Formats: sequence, structure tokens, C-alpha cells
Amino acid sequence: MNITDKQILLSAAIKAVDYLTEIKERNVSPEAAAIEALKEFNEDLPDSGKDALQTIDFLNRYGSPATMASTGGRYFGFVIGGSHVPALAANWLSTAWDQNAGLFVTSPVSAVIESVCERWLTEILPVARGASVGFVSGVTMANFTALAAARSAILNANDWDVERRGLFGAPPIKVVVSEEAHSSIFKALALLGLGMDRVIKVPTDSNGCMSLDRMPELNSDTIVCIQAGNVNTGGMDSGQIVVDAKKKGAWVHADGAFGLWAGASEHKKYLTKDYELADSWATDGHKWLNVPYDNGIVICREKEHLRKAMSMDASYLDQSGVRIPYQYTPELSRRARATDIWAAMRTLGKNGIDDLISRSCLYAELFALKLEEAGFEILNEVETNQVLVSFGSDDETQEVISAVQHEGTCWVSGTNWKGRVAMRISISSWATKPADVTKSVAAMIACARKVVLNAA
Ligand SMILES: *Cc1c(COP(=O)(O)O)cnc(C)c1O
Repeated sequence: MNITDKQILLSAAIKAVDYLTEIKERNVSPEAAAIEALKEFNEDLPDSGKDALQTIDFLNRYGSPATMASTGGRYFGFVIGGSHVPALAANWLSTAWDQNAGLFVTSPVSAVIESVCERWLTEILPVARGASVGFVSGVTMANFTALAAARSAILNANDWDVERRGLFGAPPIKVVVSEEAHSSIFKALALLGLGMDRVIKVPTDSNGCMSLDRMPELNSDTIVCIQAGNVNTGGMDSGQIVVDAKKKGAWVHADGAFGLWAGASEHKKYLTKDYELADSWATDGHKWLNVPYDNGIVICREKEHLRKAMSMDASYLDQSGVRIPYQYTPELSRRARATDIWAAMRTLGKNGIDDLISRSCLYAELFALKLEEAGFEILNEVETNQVLVSFGSDDETQEVISAVQHEGTCWVSGTNWKGRVAMRISISSWATKPADVTKSVAAMIACARKVVLNAA
């Protein structure tokens, strides 16, 4: 490699390290001036290429300040994790490898790392031992992949090969979801031809979990989607639904984008009791495990259903006895994303992962306690990492959310919970420390007091 190429790569690495060092001191949301300066990107495509070092410099000068500091420790918006440093470093190295992780022959190392992650993930998550694991871009794709396997299995049991024949004229599949199901479940159903409107929606309790006594009749032609971790409350659907649905022969899919990780915590794993009896699971690496985007995980009890739905060409099956990654996912060519997961899990270990999950839940309790002490209302049962707060009327709460976002110490999003505007605090980052919680609570209370004073 010539000197210039080395300089380009090292310059990017140094800028990245500086970014991550300074991010703790910066406001979480970008300054208005930084967003304004994004107009600098709006250049015409040059006739001859520009200097590479200057290009990386440009990206850092105008790009870095206009980021949301979500990888710091005081970003509590949506459900978004940060990047655990060893996972980020592994991501850099494996990006330099530029592997096509779709086949063993195009990347032996990716295939082997996927197999190792498959074993590790099925050991610590509340899923079936020996299940098959595929590495996709996020839970939207993980839900899609798992539901494709479900569709394949149910129709195959009815002598209908859906991969070959399509859905026209196929026996119907009954789909049961929570009324609180994440939008990505409906997107997956739409893409799979199962339709997002022809589902049965099960009513939920006050914490957004499916009501056991409101479940419809189930049979072996049914897919039941449960949710581990409601995006608002963090509430976990009861494993009793899995037990009951399995007795009726239904396929149970668990959307556990973040909540499935509760099963990796000694303190919290009571919440995922009996989840391992389900047929498929979807979870994210890029949320609570804190690996870089994009990183989703699909898990399927029976390898053959996943294979049949994803591999298309039976002649590839087990030809070589090695893992052929594309047979587990919709994509063929893709990056070696399991490398990030491998590095996070190897450096955290079982105890480190348990600690990450348990700690986030503890901080959620701390937020709830401090805000309640200050006189504000907590709207959810804080069981995992999500806290919903009301600061009074809907207008007042909305004003407090905007004030907190603008003030910059931390960032939270707003939501609507059972008809009320709420501030949603999600603690999903490895980087969050007790001092971040204290500092953020103080900022929230100060903003809230200002809003209330203005109203008086
Ligand atoms: C975040 C989330 C999703 C979507 O996951 P992506 O990784 O953004 O595709 C689905 N379901 C739940 C419960 C989520 O929290």
C-alpha cells in the first residue's frame, strides 16, 4: 500500500477516535448551524475526482457535527444502542477485508464466525438450543425471514409448496398479532402476501402486553406473533401464550428486537420464561447488544423451514458440510456482519452481556424513581429499559420533550401511550453511566419546571 492510501485510512481512523472522544462533551442533538452547513454537500459531481484526504476531511468537517450523538451515553430516543468499542473495531477490520459473506467459498472466515455466533446466541438467548441463526440487516428483515419460514412450514404441511407455487390458490393461513405489534410485523406480512389487514389483533393490557384471556381459537394453520419488548413500555408478552399456542400446534414467532435480550440477564430472565418453546425469534444486534448498524438476527427452531424458505435451490443443500450463509437469509452478497456480534460477545462474555442488560434496566428504574420524586407521572410499569413520563397535560409534556431535545444534555423522543402524550426514555447504550442518568434527570426536571412556570 502506498503512503497516500495509508494516510487516507489513518486520517479517517484518527478522526473517528477524536469524534468518539469529544462526543461526551457535545450536545446530543446537532446545533442548527451544523445542520445549516450540510448544504456544503450539495456540490455538483466533479468532472475529475477530488483529493481523497480532502474528501475525508470534508466528510468530518461537515458530517460529524451534523450527527445525532446517539453513540454517546445520553441518547435515550426510540430504542437505539451505541457501538461497543471492540465491536466497532472488529467492524473496521472486517470492512477492510471486504468479504462477500454470502458463500463459504467467497469468505470462509465469515461462514465460520457465523457458525460460532449461532452457537453462542442460542446459548444465551431464550430460544431453542440447536436452532438456526441468520444474520440480516435488522429486525424488519428478521421478522420477514422468520415469517417466510412459518409460511413455508404451514403450507408445506398442507401439501402446498409455496416457494414453487406462490400463494394464489393456497390454503389460508390465520395470522394472530398483538394490537401493539411493531409496524415491521405488518410490513413483513405485506411483503409475504399474508396481508396486513387480514390479521386478528389481540387486545392488550395496561402495559401493552397481549391479554391471555382475549386470544382467539388457534390451530396448526395459525401463526401467532408475540412481542418481547413493547417499543413504548418495554412490556413483554407472557410466555404462557407460547405454551398455549404450541398445544394447539400453531407456529409462534417472537419479535424480540430488544426485549429478547432480557433473557440474557439473570435478574430479568423471568420475563422470557417459556420463550424457548416458540418456533422463531427475531432480535437486533444493533440495539441492546450495541454493535454497529446494520445488524439483525433471525432464529428458527427447525433449520429445514428456514432453508426451504431462503435457499430456493435444493441442489445447494449440505453439499459440502460447511455453512452457506445465504441459505439463512434473503440476501446473497452482503457484509460479514456477524464479525461485529462475535467481537461484542467475546469481549463482554456472558457476565458482561448480563451486566449490560441488567444495568440498563436499573437505570430505567432510576429515571422513573427520580422523575416520580420530582412530582411527575410514570405511565408504564418499568420492567425493562423503557420509561414513559407525563409532565401534566399533553401540551405540557410535548413542550417539555421539545425543551429537553433543544437543551442538549440528552435526547428523548415523544410518543403517544393509550391516548396520552408521553416522553419515552429508552436506556439501550453500553455507554450510559450513572452520572449520565443524574445529569439527564436534572436537565429534564429543569426543562419541566420552566414549562410549568411559563404556564402559571
Ligand atoms: C426496533 C424494533 C423493530 C424493527 O427493528 P429494525 O432493526 O429497526 O428493523 C421491530 N420490532 C420491535 C419490537 C422493535 O423494537
